[in-house]
Amino acid sequence: LEPWEDPNAAPYVRIDGVTKRFGDFTAVDDVDLSIYRSELFCLLGASGCGKTTLLRMLAGFERPSNGRILIDGQDVTDQAPYERPVNMMFQSYALFPHMTVEQNVAYGLKQDRVQKDEIKRRVHQLLELVQLDPWAKRKPHQLSGGQRQRVALARALVKRPKLLLLDEPLAALDKKLREQTQFELMNIQDEVGVTFVVVTHDQEEAMTLSTRMAVMDKGRVQQVGTPTEIYEFPRTRFTADFIGSINMFEGTVQGVYDGRVRVTADSVPCALEVDSPLQVQDGQRVWFSVRPEKLRARRDDGGDLPAVNALRGMVRDVAYMGDTSIFRIDCGIGELVEVLQPNVFRSREREVDWDDPVIVEWSTDAGLVLTE
Ligand code: ATP
Repeated sequence: LEPWEDPNAAPYVRIDGVTKRFGDFTAVDDVDLSIYRSELFCLLGASGCGKTTLLRMLAGFERPSNGRILIDGQDVTDQAPYERPVNMMFQSYALFPHMTVEQNVAYGLKQDRVQKDEIKRRVHQLLELVQLDPWAKRKPHQLSGGQRQRVALARALVKRPKLLLLDEPLAALDKKLREQTQFELMNIQDEVGVTFVVVTHDQEEAMTLSTRMAVMDKGRVQQVGTPTEIYEFPRTRFTADFIGSINMFEGTVQGVYDGRVRVTADSVPCALEVDSPLQVQDGQRVWFSVRPEKLRARRDDGGDLPAVNALRGMVRDVAYMGDTSIFRIDCGIGELVEVLQPNVFRSREREVDWDDPVIVEWSTDAGLVLTE
């Protein structure tokens, strides 16, 4: 049982009805979140959605206009940053350029007047953890972006915060290094067991890193869940869109029975049936979506069309991707329907190809019902 599934588990961080207004602009709007010990929790959202402001309130750099923040059961809403068991790693890393790696990491401990031997021990422990031992005597400008990022991480961890806040920790790295560093970050988090809250606008990063994530839009939390839950069962159009769903159609619920929802989409001629955990009502306006990999396109042999979840169309584009191909199919419903399927070669031809008439079909557990 994961802690967030356990009704008796006490959250390590509780964000309780928190709102932040700047003048008459609401940057964070009535957010409730529970984050558990040793989680790597991501706040995911587009620029300006309020995720940094929420992180700064956890750190104590901003005070909520309403609501409370509890850490380990203690109300810290009115505490200054230094009174909280929290450390924050900023977007720019903010390393001291004239100090060596070692001195950068040691800085906070020196300020706290920790004993010299103890400083030495802890700095080297951390440098080993982030694999920077060989670079201890270098200065930041002599390091790569990824190495600088790890110095910043070591510096943030050396004071042993219970909660580490990271604002876009990997944003300055190029794609390859970012992917590699994601795994390092996960390993380090695993080893030190500190609770991490990470702000990112990158959905792939959030999917890779997090135990759970909160998808944010316009200061509000749209959905909280594990990467699998968010990917498999987005609840709103915003969340689905943000994690890259396509094939979305607006429509109306025309019946709900036994967890199965029937939807009539405005532009789609066939009946749509979906097994959906969502509580929706007859007549409710919703969105219907189905992922490209859950659709199947087969050559139209002129037979009857299945009664539900099937469309006739014509292949307009094929993008060959090696073991799979992406087909863009004109089903006469305004936008092209995208289908991704494994390549089946018959006498060195694809099963379906350019300009083929096809039937696109899918099962009732493949679709999604999304609310606005
Ligand atoms: P980004 O990824 O671009 O940093 P974000 O999701 O982290 O975006 P925030 O930095 O939290 O967004 O900002 C949310 C909104 O609040 C933005 O519209 C921003 O302009 C506004 N905002 C943030 N700080 C202040 C401030 N001190 N005064 C006025 N408005 C602010």
